[in-house]
Amino acid sequence: MATTGDDALTGLQDRRSFLGLLRRQVVFANDRKNILALIVLDIDGFSRLNATHGFEFGDHALQHLAARLREVARAHDYVARIGGDRFALLLPRVMNSGHAELAVQKLQRLLDVPFQHGEHQARLAATVGVALCPQHATHPDYLLRLAEKALASARVAGVNCGVAPDGGASLDVSETWDIEIELEGALQRGELSLHYQPQVRVSDLRPVGVEALMRWHSRSRGPVSPDVFIPIAERTGLIKKLTIWALNTALRQASQWKHPWGELGVAVNLPASLVAQYDLPDLVENALHLWGREGVVLVLEITERSLMDARHSFDILSRLRTLGARVSIDDFGTGYSCLAYFKDIPADELKVDRSFVHGLLTDTASVHVSSLIIDLAHRFGLAVVAEGIEDQATLEALRVLGCDTAQGWLFGKALPSDDLQLWLDGAAAAHAGL
Ligand code: C2E
Ligand code: CA
Ligand code: CA
Repeated sequence: MATTGDDALTGLQDRRSFLGLLRRQVVFANDRKNILALIVLDIDGFSRLNATHGFEFGDHALQHLAARLREVARAHDYVARIGGDRFALLLPRVMNSGHAELAVQKLQRLLDVPFQHGEHQARLAATVGVALCPQHATHPDYLLRLAEKALASARVAGVNCGVAPDGGASLDVSETWDIEIELEGALQRGELSLHYQPQVRVSDLRPVGVEALMRWHSRSRGPVSPDVFIPIAERTGLIKKLTIWALNTALRQASQWKHPWGELGVAVNLPASLVAQYDLPDLVENALHLWGREGVVLVLEITERSLMDARHSFDILSRLRTLGARVSIDDFGTGYSCLAYFKDIPADELKVDRSFVHGLLTDTASVHVSSLIIDLAHRFGLAVVAEGIEDQATLEALRVLGCDTAQGWLFGKALPSDDLQLWLDGAAAAHAGL
């Protein structure tokens, strides 16, 4: 018999109670350092089935699928109906993704056997999406979203099973869990800081701004690279808190620097997940209200990935610009640039990715790409920053291509706020002596 939180038709858990269960299982997986596999599936052509054989037959098909899922589930697995013809199978304690794929294969085999109801007979087919915790996500809502996305991609690709793409560094499972837990408390323990890397004008090497880069010095493991902890923070959702902290810290510290140039930009990196959120302009406005000073221009670095839902993100970026912030498109050329909407992007500058900059002296393809990006940006009134410049010859090559701003170890590494002040003092003395 169905109890509260159960789906009346199939007797399985419904979406709401499943979400509660998913949250608890994520916590258990974390405690035990286990892998949790989430499989979502829906029936192929379910509305056609309803239309040709009637709703009663459709209901029976749902019950049939529910029963097959129960057969696949082991004693400690969970099955739920989380939408009209959408189901979920949650497998705690799997060894790897192969385990989840075995469950999917077993289900497909069971579904291959036709079933009969009344005078009609049918064979069900289902498309499946798989996501693992912690490899793909450690936030329950995000895990579900990734599994549903994998399902949608499998549909588009015309295959019956899709697995969420691997993201971030390839750490082993318990390492990922440990870092995630430590990172939760890192902000309170004062282990995070921002370092600032100078940016200079190519024409006369005058400082024009800095990029704020996050640093984590963990008490137990020492310095942890942002390439490791930023993707983890994105998967857990902690990135929002970290970004708010970075916005406020960067504006506060930048307002204290002394220099003779009137205005300096301070660039903060925004993750794609935040650009999609409606409260982003409010967060930026609050930070500007608290710490914004004349002479400090806030630059928001976003990646091309943020622009995939163009209409929505364009709206948010336009609002950010009306607050006085500048928008910079980071790592340009490495993602999925869509030239069709390029002319409408509410942005002020493009950053040429350092992979192209590093190839400038040795690889003609990198020269072509950099040159194209610079021309394209200028045609649409955007400034161009090249990052990762390590030597004079690369700087000269960029100067010839017409690049506006340069950033890289040739000018300075990312420095703590106090050291950046010393760097600015040195630059001011050098320019006064010119
Ligand atoms: P990014 O935004 O592309 O940042 C530039 C990276 O290039 C930085 O690495 C910087 O130290 C490095 N770099 C600068 N000049 C040179 C150079 O001349 N040669 C070479 N080889 N590298 C150079 P970092 O600090 O390790 O950051 C790595 C990535 O982590 C960043 O790439 C960014 O995607 C992410 N990240 C760092 N801080 C933040 C943050 O506060 N928020 C977010 N969302 N992401 C951040
Ligand atoms: Ca950046
Ligand atoms: Ca970059």
